[in-house]
Amino acid sequence: MQDVNILVFEEDAQAAKTIEAVLKSAGYHVWLASSPAEALTSLRSNVFPAAIAEVHSAKMNGTHFTQEVHKISAGTNVLVITLYSFINSAIEAMEAGAYAYITKPFNSSEIRIVVERAVERYFLLSTSDEKDYFVDLAVRDGLTGLFNRRYFNELINMEINRLKRAPSSLSLLMLDIDNFKIYNDTQGHPAGDELLKKCAKVFKNSVRAVDIICRYGGEEFIIMLPQTDKPGAQIIAERLRMQAELFLPTTISVGIATLPQDAQSVEDLIQKADDALYQAKKSGKNKWCAA
Ligand code: GH3
Ligand code: MG
Ligand code: MG
Repeated sequence: MQDVNILVFEEDAQAAKTIEAVLKSAGYHVWLASSPAEALTSLRSNVFPAAIAEVHSAKMNGTHFTQEVHKISAGTNVLVITLYSFINSAIEAMEAGAYAYITKPFNSSEIRIVVERAVERYFLLSTSDEKDYFVDLAVRDGLTGLFNRRYFNELINMEINRLKRAPSSLSLLMLDIDNFKIYNDTQGHPAGDELLKKCAKVFKNSVRAVDIICRYGGEEFIIMLPQTDKPGAQIIAERLRMQAELFLPTTISVGIATLPQDAQSVEDLIQKADDALYQAKKSGKNKWCAA
């Protein structure tokens, strides 16, 4: 558990200290945020299996907080802190997707158990097969269930047409598994296939719902990030790199290119992301490079 980050926003300093002490003694890394906005900022650039927040904050209620967390990281489990007499607002937050609630006054065991479950769930969902996943072969890759290359080309062209009417940035991430040939050779091809499926889950879990992920080639993936400038894309690339390190038996390298600053056409944008990926490989792997 030593590398698991837990994000905590609790306005009451004494209560924050209590949670911090319980979680630290359970072996977690605790990140205390001083506001909901600060918590969301941390979430953008780090991996958090669980985010714990007090729901009566004047700055942001639990429902809103839950929605904002899931816009950034769909897999993060939100735990809301509530006074028992205000449990309705916690239930509301759960209807909006929060995973569970923690009641005040605190009980150390309750905190520990709820957080432990949330972390387990995060790991399971990040790496397990979604058996009921609907695979439409016309638009999806049969192995991973991600969009296929042809459909990706359609989607990105639609997006670029939209940008002509409402100009905004768009970034591409080109991802490639490091030393995948060695993994195949030592673990066997079926294990290689399993790893590709696992990569797909891990990547899906760490981007926003509006981001489009595609299996671009054998062990290459491409992610389209609408309304994302280069600094934003770099943060996501680093988060993906960290996720791979945490969940996968291999690392990944990432190339980043951004429209309109790096390219004017789709072809050119993909080429620039590919060139940046090549730089990441050439300069040591397990890293991202930007055009
Ligand atoms: P690098 O770090 O430079 O990317 O090295 P690499 O070994 O990952 O790259 P290379 O291009 O040399 O090898 C890619 C390997 O991916 C070779 C190929 O057999 C394997 N591969 C491609 N598609 C699949 C697939 O669908 N399943 C499996 N198991 N392996 C695949
Ligand atoms: Mg490759
Ligand atoms: Mg590779």
